[in-house]
Amino acid sequence: MKHTISIIITFLLCIITAKTAHAPWGFWAHERINKMALFTLPEELFGFYKPHIAYIEEHAVDPDKRRYAIDEEAPRHYIDLDHYGEYPFITLPRRWNEAVIKFSEDTLYEHGIVPWHCELMMYRLTTAFKEMDANYILKMSAEIGHYIADAHVPLHCTENYNGQLTNQIGIHGFWESRIPELIGENYDYLVGKAEYIPDVHDKLWEIVLQSHLMVDSVLSFEAQLNNEFPSDRKYSYETRGESTVRVYSAEYTLAYNQLLNNMVERRMRETIITLGSFWLTAWINAGRPNLTGVEFKPWTEEELNEFLEIDTAYTKGDEKGKFIEHEE
Ligand SMILES: [Zn+2]
Repeated sequence: MKHTISIIITFLLCIITAKTAHAPWGFWAHERINKMALFTLPEELFGFYKPHIAYIEEHAVDPDKRRYAIDEEAPRHYIDLDHYGEYPFITLPRRWNEAVIKFSEDTLYEHGIVPWHCELMMYRLTTAFKEMDANYILKMSAEIGHYIADAHVPLHCTENYNGQLTNQIGIHGFWESRIPELIGENYDYLVGKAEYIPDVHDKLWEIVLQSHLMVDSVLSFEAQLNNEFPSDRKYSYETRGESTVRVYSAEYTLAYNQLLNNMVERRMRETIITLGSFWLTAWINAGRPNLTGVEFKPWTEEELNEFLEIDTAYTKGDEKGKFIEHEE
């Protein structure tokens, strides 16, 4: 018995150590966005979520973990808009069926499907509200939060997603992880009240097009700073768990953030209000069900296994240092 317990404890410690050592900082922003979006909701709807704030926060990152478990997951997090020509990419039909006919499903998956996947998630969330299925509402709410957040990241909406085409490799994590890690605690997360979105489809395309328009600043300001900055001050070293990792220095990060005029904070705020509005819209479209007293059921064995499966796949993938294309 004692032996079993110590094995379990050792196993858990390994997971915890692995996570703190390698957890992408993008996880921090996803969790914060999901949590803060809850506070944009009207009282009626907030009351339902209130006992489950921790769930909504923790499960904001399930879709990223799932990328290590199943191949179909990755394309749901991005769209290489510039693969389809020039802004506003009119050659790319906005409707899935029309886009499939024009470009084939394989091409669409290859270059990412985030706006379409968000629409599918909205359909699922609306159905969950209609059926007043508390567990499914929570699961879909947490996960749609992830995809909507990804759609707001400029580097999730371009082929040059990690600066690999412009000799700026690492810029993906720099923008979405390093900046919020360093200064995100000081951001202003009060963004007002969620509002009904009359056309979810249009709104999603507006988001990814806006994200894409910011790509130019994201890349050109970094290139400018890189030219001006003494190279020995661009990076510094930090200890994470047992390893020492090279990071963009605080000085370089702050200078970049200033050039971007707090773009990461602005984008996080935009995501929070939009996400709250998506949740609210799904609930309204489901006929504003009264969720008072709707019971949260214990997760089934199958659901618990799924959580465990993605956690394990993520931990293993991460330990091997497996690099996933279009990282978080
Ligand atoms: Zn993601």
